[in-house]
Amino acid sequence: MATQLKRNSKYSEAEWTARQELAACYRIFAMMGWDEMIFNHITVKLEDQEGAFLINPYGMHFSEVTASSLIKIDIDGNKLDEDNPWHVNKAGFVQHSLFHRVLPDAHAIIHTHTTATMAVCGLEGGLQPTNFYACNFMGQLAYHDFEGVTVREEEGARLIEHLGDKRILMLRNHGPVVMGKSLSDAFIKYWALQRACEIQLATMSMGKPILVGEDVIKVHQRDLYMAAIPGQSGKAEFDAMVRKVDRIDTSWRD
Ligand SMILES: [Zn+2]
Repeated sequence: MATQLKRNSKYSEAEWTARQELAACYRIFAMMGWDEMIFNHITVKLEDQEGAFLINPYGMHFSEVTASSLIKIDIDGNKLDEDNPWHVNKAGFVQHSLFHRVLPDAHAIIHTHTTATMAVCGLEGGLQPTNFYACNFMGQLAYHDFEGVTVREEEGARLIEHLGDKRILMLRNHGPVVMGKSLSDAFIKYWALQRACEIQLATMSMGKPILVGEDVIKVHQRDLYMAAIPGQSGKAEFDAMVRKVDRIDTSWRD
């Protein structure tokens, strides 16, 4: 993040940085209205500690999350920092755990229940090429039929099979799972997907949308890279949102 942050000596430098980035991300989601009471999760892998992840404390609203209240867990959702008084929603970690386990490149995983993304997940045909942001994702989304709340391990094989080589899984009738190589990468993909879904919802509520043709989608996806800063997926956008969060309050940093 842009500002050098004071380190809590209890944690390694890498863990403290990861904690602050993730706490900031939860605050961004709360600010954007992408929170779901005490539910949903954004998880990250701790790159300096094999098999360790960070997750939000169960019962805490996204707007209350701080760097030190995040819980360090193992791949099965067992708490690793015992002095943290909060609990983990182990059931909620089941699908995150599956993807973190089998996909080495899934550093950060975001799952939400926002109205716009859930609505599109519940629509026949899912995301349609009706707007600029939706065109970013055409051919890049995977879909998985609803089988009830995603807590049964035997559903795992089908989730992985349906995901294939994609890194965004639209859980039908449920919500999206967005994975990124870094937290800012997952964030920027999630932001664009959220926007794509919001706009589809608005467009379809007015009447028959104009569908963008495949040739234009190809050109659009080919040329998108021109707006990107190489190797920094989502970083400038994430940092700008952190500054906006800081203008609300800076308690996430502790
Ligand atoms: Zn869910």
